[in-house]
Amino acid sequence: MGAPRKRFGQHFLHDSSVIARTLDAIDPQPGERLVEIGPGRGALTRALLERIDRLQAIEIDRDLAAELRTRFDPQRLEVLEADVLDMNFTTLRGAAAPLRVVGNLPYNISTPLLFHLLEHRAAIRDMHFMLQKEVVERMAARPGSKAYGRLTVMLAPWVQVESLFHVGAGSFRPPPKVESAVVRLIPSQGARFDIGEPRRFEQVVRAAFAQRRKTLRNALNGLVDEAGLRAAGIDPGDRAERLAPEQFGHLALQAARSIPLPVP
Ligand code: SAM
Repeated sequence: MGAPRKRFGQHFLHDSSVIARTLDAIDPQPGERLVEIGPGRGALTRALLERIDRLQAIEIDRDLAAELRTRFDPQRLEVLEADVLDMNFTTLRGAAAPLRVVGNLPYNISTPLLFHLLEHRAAIRDMHFMLQKEVVERMAARPGSKAYGRLTVMLAPWVQVESLFHVGAGSFRPPPKVESAVVRLIPSQGARFDIGEPRRFEQVVRAAFAQRRKTLRNALNGLVDEAGLRAAGIDPGDRAERLAPEQFGHLALQAARSIPLPVP
């Protein structure tokens, strides 16, 4: 077995109670389509295959992929050697039931990976991930809290986020420098509240949080004027961190009235 590769964010779970709790949270049922991201040395893979017959797993590390192919029955585990950021989950689902996606994710790519998965949300029933604790806190944060920000608001229209439990660094080998948490994400097909054009929503959210101590009047200068802020029911002297995700939807609709979208 080779040494863990830092560039692939390799921290392997060895704590059987954490593995059992994660499996209970996923609650896989026979016949469901499960896809694991980053199976590594197979700690979760093995536990999943105790409950279901077949599993697909996406692993970027060629050596680990080869090792998994020898350790597991290929009739039951299909190892897809690929970068998950290039994986087309819509194609992977095909005509079958929506996928249940799980994994102890490589933390260095967690944010781009979440947005990549959201692009394929129509193909996904739910997701259960082990992530850096701070990232889960940001995903599930309430307005006004320190963790509330761009990630919270950008996910809010598309997924329901449920933080499930924390996991200490000692549950992994080698232990990461950060604490971890398991999160459940349930994607919705349409936006959960009106955001207008998604690119406009993103533009407004990015500008609002670019300097979070600025008032919205200043942060959104050039995108939504004072009259637009008031029309959206928002105090121009307020700050981004105090607005609910739905209010960013109102702002995006106001911005759409005056400014053309940037060329992609
Ligand atoms: N699931 C294993 C466990 O819990 O012990 C390993 C988790 S480890 C944190 C992350 C895994 O994701 C590693 O096996 C790593 O090689 C793999 N990985 C990293 N980047 C990846 C990528 N872009 N696409 C697919 N797999 C990746």
